[in-house]
Amino acid sequence: MAKKKQFKAESQRLLDLMINSIYTHKEIFLRELISNASDASDKLYYKALTENISGISREDLSIQIVINKDHRMLSIIDQGIGMDAKELEEHLGTIANSGSFEFKNALEKGQDDVDIIGQFGVGFYSAFMVAHKVEVISKKYGEDQAYIWESDTSDGYTVKECDYPQHGTRINLFLKENTDDENYDQYLDEYEIQRLVKKYSDYVHYPIEMDMTTSKQKEDSDEYEQVVEHKTLNSMVPLWKRPKKDITKEDYNEFYQDKFNDFNEPLKVMHNSVEGTISYDSLLFIPSKPPMNYYSQDYEKGLQLYSRGVFIMDKASDLVPEHYRFVKGLVDSQDLSLNISREMLQHDRQLKLIADKIEKRIQSELEKMLKNERETYEEFFKNFGLQLKFGIYNSYGMLKDKLQDLLLFYSANEKKLITLNEYVEAMKEEQKEIYFASGETIEKINHLPTVEMVKDKGFDILYLTDNVDEFCIQMLREYKEKAFKNINQGDLDIESEEEKKELEQVNEDNKDLLETLKEALKDQVQDVKVSSRLKTHPVCLVSGEGVSFEMEKVLSQMPDAQGVKAGRILEINPNHQIFTALQSVFDKDKEKIKDYASLLYDQALLIEGFSIDDPVGFSNKVCDLMVEANK
Ligand code: ADP
Ligand code: MG
Repeated sequence: MAKKKQFKAESQRLLDLMINSIYTHKEIFLRELISNASDASDKLYYKALTENISGISREDLSIQIVINKDHRMLSIIDQGIGMDAKELEEHLGTIANSGSFEFKNALEKGQDDVDIIGQFGVGFYSAFMVAHKVEVISKKYGEDQAYIWESDTSDGYTVKECDYPQHGTRINLFLKENTDDENYDQYLDEYEIQRLVKKYSDYVHYPIEMDMTTSKQKEDSDEYEQVVEHKTLNSMVPLWKRPKKDITKEDYNEFYQDKFNDFNEPLKVMHNSVEGTISYDSLLFIPSKPPMNYYSQDYEKGLQLYSRGVFIMDKASDLVPEHYRFVKGLVDSQDLSLNISREMLQHDRQLKLIADKIEKRIQSELEKMLKNERETYEEFFKNFGLQLKFGIYNSYGMLKDKLQDLLLFYSANEKKLITLNEYVEAMKEEQKEIYFASGETIEKINHLPTVEMVKDKGFDILYLTDNVDEFCIQMLREYKEKAFKNINQGDLDIESEEEKKELEQVNEDNKDLLETLKEALKDQVQDVKVSSRLKTHPVCLVSGEGVSFEMEKVLSQMPDAQGVKAGRILEINPNHQIFTALQSVFDKDKEKIKDYASLLYDQALLIEGFSIDDPVGFSNKVCDLMVEANK
């Protein structure tokens, strides 16, 4: 009888934790054992290759799963490299991996994540989450003696000699009895095992086989019989490893919809094999619609991470930059270790390299789409354009060079979305700045009094309708050395020299009138001016430099709104009859002019989409005027 040995102290503590943990993803034990079996097969295969051993081909190295309901036993059998007595002790009696410490911390912190076990390289021990006893029968390749390692976890393990016909390892799990909370019987169910293999180990590149019982109709009869078939449960070759020319659009679409639970087909598929200092395959998708929770806190970005076809992490967030967080997909690299944790990933140089390349890949795909498939790109921009604008804004403009040429804005002239480059290319020679106007909708902006004159002079205007637009543009500052100019803000400077002189003259001639208006409105406006930017409209309200009206509106909706206000300047059209009216009232009745001032200001507010302070007063004044006009 072999003497019972204690687990190394640290391993014992970890085991206790495993066994008692309320870890909800117990099912991953299967993935871990299969991945060990696959590793052991890899090792033998590698040995055969490097030592010129004949008779070992990949196809022979299958992984078998056997269910024995009578003994509540689940077995995972490989024909890999195997372990001798010493290795059984070393590998299964100790947790040599430094990751175990972090793993314990994570478990103790209650971090209940699908991946923590795989991450920390303590996979074998996960068997004890579902089994009360584990046997490992193993024969090392090239040796005659087999050994059995056995543990019921309570106080150590034994290693004994045994008979076993083949090289490789057989792991027997004696499953725990069901409890109120936990159903262990499910791991004796063929369909459940099949599901788990498909879910976690589909792309393991050895066949994972199991007997499956199905009922089949007997020939020439209505009766059914139970038939046992030996089935391969995994597909083995991942889609991303297949030659591109053999993959149809439907294959990609199906794969995407299935894997990422999207009803819609993807808008774009990017499939790449990269070889070099770091090698990887990537399969990336741009969804055609944002997921329901996309613009909320719940949405988690990231790509699935595989190492040699073995799934290691669901949402490796460092693989995609924030501004492309809509991209879904996966990366498979042989250069990454299975035992990598999220924390380690952040500092992993290899991963950074991959992430950089992925960002460039997405970038160039978008540029290509914009150039060659305008309609598709506009579709994309409708759904995810906001993300690009946020990218510029949130990075304080650092991402400007990468993202500015991917932006689209509505053009007043073209009546469709255009790029900044298209705007600048079409600019008139005398035009110095890129004009834009903001509002809730295209229609509302179109009705702004100030739009008319700018358009009339033949200048195009970009209409900004998203809240983030002006903030984004502020971060851009300029495009191709042309500054952005809000046509409702500050001085527009679009008049000819002659017009400027004329305007100065009008201002001079009406100094007293303007002063009086300004005095009447001194609590509301910074200034009252005659305007050069109005054509047929009587008045407009423009903001001073700095915060614009749209920005004021957006800012006021924020939870920590600090009451930032745009400066208000009332401009009056000197060519409008209203101006003549003002002049004559001013000559007759210095008091009356105050009512007029207030009315004009309120109108300008309404046009800008602001509410007025005293609607009743406004209404009364309008009525008075109507009555007076009909006396
Ligand atoms: P990891 O796989 O990350 O090394 P595990 O706890 O899963 O950690 O396994 C510990 C070690 O036990 C493995 O590194 C390997 O040396 C050995 N081992 C486990 N399962 C097998 C197997 N089926 N065949 C051969 N060796 C195995
Ligand atoms: Mg392992």
